[in-house]
Amino acid sequence: MRTFDIQRRAERLRRRVLFIGPGECNVCGSRVRFQSVTEIIGGPLAAHGFPYTMDELETLNHRRYLCPVCGAADRDRLYKLYMDRFLEPDGVCRVVDFAPSAALSASLRSRADLEYRTADLMMPGVDDVVDITDMPTYADGSFDFFICSHVLEHVSDDSRALRELYRVLVPGGRGIIMTPVAPEGSFDEDPSVTDEEERWRRFCQGDHVRLYDRSTLCSRIRQSGFEVSLFGSSTFGEETFERHAIALNSWLYIAHKPDTDAV
Ligand SMILES: [Zn+2]
Repeated sequence: MRTFDIQRRAERLRRRVLFIGPGECNVCGSRVRFQSVTEIIGGPLAAHGFPYTMDELETLNHRRYLCPVCGAADRDRLYKLYMDRFLEPDGVCRVVDFAPSAALSASLRSRADLEYRTADLMMPGVDDVVDITDMPTYADGSFDFFICSHVLEHVSDDSRALRELYRVLVPGGRGIIMTPVAPEGSFDEDPSVTDEEERWRRFCQGDHVRLYDRSTLCSRIRQSGFEVSLFGSSTFGEETFERHAIALNSWLYIAHKPDTDAV
C-alpha cells in the first residue's frame, strides 16, 4: 500500500508540474507558458449567472488557454493534432474554414498539400463572404474537409447550416464541427430570446442563440446526413494533451459524409 501511495503522490506531482509548467504549442512550434483566460471568460459568466463552471464545459482549458506567440487557443491545438494525424490527402485536399482563427489559419495556409479557403459573413479579410445557411458560391462537393468551429451557436437555423455543410462536402469528406458543449441535459434553445443578458445566462454568451449538450449536438449533425465521431485523449494520448495544454475533458466532433460508392 505504501508503494502504491508513493506512486500516486508522484503521479499527482508529475501532473501538477505539467499542469502549471510550460508546454508546447503545436500550431507555431513554440515552447511557451500558456496564458489563462479564467478571469476574462469566467468573470462575465459568473456575473450573468451562467449555471455551469468553465471546468464543466468540454474543450475549454481556461487556465492554459492561449499561446502567447501565435494566439492559438486550446481548440486550435486540438484541430491541428487531428489534421496532422488524420488528414493525409491523396493529392491536394480542398479545405474551407468558417470564421477562421488567425493562428490556425496562417498555419494551414502555409501547407502545400491543402487548397485552403476561409469563409465568413461578417469577418473582414476572408476569401469568401458567405452565409453558412445559404452558400450558392460553392457548388455541391466543392470541399474535402471543413472547419466549422464556434459558428453554429450563433446561427438561428443550425439545421440549415448543417445541410449546407453536407452539400458542399464531397462524398467521403469530413469536417470539424465544434461549439461550446455543456453537461448532458443542459441543451437550451429559444429563438425569442434576444436580450443579451439573458443570452449570457442561458447560452453562455451575449450573441449565442442556444446552448448545446453532447447528445443534441450529435443528433443535429446526424439529422443532416452526417455520421459523427468523437476523438478525445484516448486517441491522442493524455501526455500529448497535457504537453499542448488541451484539457483532458476535450472532445473533437468530426462529421463524416458517407461515401456513396460504399453504400
Ligand atoms: Zn503558438
